[in-house]
Amino acid sequence: MKIAVVGTGYVGLVTGTCFAETGNDVTCVDIDKKKVEKLSSGQITIYEPGLEKLFLRNVKEERLRFTTSLAEGIRDAEIVFLALPTPPGEDGSADLKYILGVARDLGELMTDYKVIVDKSTVPVGTAEKVYATIARSFVGDFDVVSNPEFLREGVAVEDFMKPDRVIIGTVSERARKVMGELYAPFVRSGNPVIYMDVRSAELTKYAANSFLATKISFMNEIAQLCERVGADVDMVRRGIGSDDRIGKRFLFPGIGYGGSCFPKDVQALVQSSKEVEYDFQILNAVMDVNEKQKLHLLPKVKRYFKNNLKGKRFALWGLAFKPNTDDIREAPALYIIDELVKEGAIVCAYDPEAVNNVRALLGDKIQYAENQYDCLVGADALIIATEWNEFRTPNFLKIVTALKHKVIFDGRNLFETDAIKELGFYYESVGRSVAD
Ligand code: NAD
Repeated sequence: MKIAVVGTGYVGLVTGTCFAETGNDVTCVDIDKKKVEKLSSGQITIYEPGLEKLFLRNVKEERLRFTTSLAEGIRDAEIVFLALPTPPGEDGSADLKYILGVARDLGELMTDYKVIVDKSTVPVGTAEKVYATIARSFVGDFDVVSNPEFLREGVAVEDFMKPDRVIIGTVSERARKVMGELYAPFVRSGNPVIYMDVRSAELTKYAANSFLATKISFMNEIAQLCERVGADVDMVRRGIGSDDRIGKRFLFPGIGYGGSCFPKDVQALVQSSKEVEYDFQILNAVMDVNEKQKLHLLPKVKRYFKNNLKGKRFALWGLAFKPNTDDIREAPALYIIDELVKEGAIVCAYDPEAVNNVRALLGDKIQYAENQYDCLVGADALIIATEWNEFRTPNFLKIVTALKHKVIFDGRNLFETDAIKELGFYYESVGRSVAD
């Protein structure tokens, strides 16, 4: 099939590459000239495990192309995916200016039947708006389908190639057939393609992300309680996770959810609810808890250093909002940096993939290290903000040698409290006792 993907960011590039991998002819469109130049010359623009290999293979086979021209990108395409940003507007609702701007252009450019697919996360009613916008200029037959994306950054290729489910929102038989054929190679092992009406498909994505964010905030509140009553959140987590109705996954407490999706999607669902005069009470609490949780380590750090962080030096492990990505959007580490620097502290950070993105954002507000041990040299304490695998079993001898004091504040509960106590560390984590 001939496919256009409009918007070549985290979702668009993975979508385009994976569809090319199953033999389709894909053109990715982006307004960012530099990005398109880089991609066209065979350089990948994001870090995503496994993506580069597929990207290079499909560029070489000429199944994957890049352009800044929407006209060129969609000319022969039967299917046009919109993988455009939907950032929060001033009131928290999803800003549809990118989606509707492209829809307007599509209306002017289209000359034959196409299936237009909303892959971006968009509020209920967006497909109808996209349809109406295109139909203002194009009088022929076309369909607008909702096909929300559930990939997780860090395992995006795997998620895309073997999705748990594919959601397709349309009542058009023609569009349903096209979409079914396109996705058939991805669901050969039997995972479902679930067809539904467009509005339900649009809401499914927000419901999924909001539910997951709720699970995180719930566990973070349990962790708060654990610290106050002397319980261990790891034990509680194992205790409840063994119940099938609860499930083991997504029960890890920490320093809050971040990233480009959960914060904006929860906020957007709250706002969409307001628009239909519904007060989504649980989600308001989920957001409040998360705001507080992002700074959960700060009072612990301040208490330890007797409220005086001026001139103190902190090593920070982890900048990305989660491991295996270079994405720093809404990363809890950025909030921690902000507070530490405000208090007059010096921060030296290390992240396996996200340093360049943070450097572009913060410049010399903090220092950056080449590896996880360099940033420890002369530091008063180590703070851990992202659970990269390489932080899980570090060389403690190197840590002890480099740090000025044996002090660790761990926002991701990477180490066993007893084991780290034996090594002589002062260690504070989330929802567990302090090792002193
Ligand atoms: P992104 O910011 O990484 O990428 C968006 C791309 O669109 C950018 O490259 C930008 O230059 C381009 N763009 C903007 N305006 C354009 C235009 N007029 N024409 C062509 N290109 C244009 O965003 P993302 O993370 O890929 O997210 C895209 C959508 O997918 C959002 O709605 C997001 O909520 C949703 N989503 C994201 C994820 C994720 O993990 N990142 C997962 C599922 C769903």
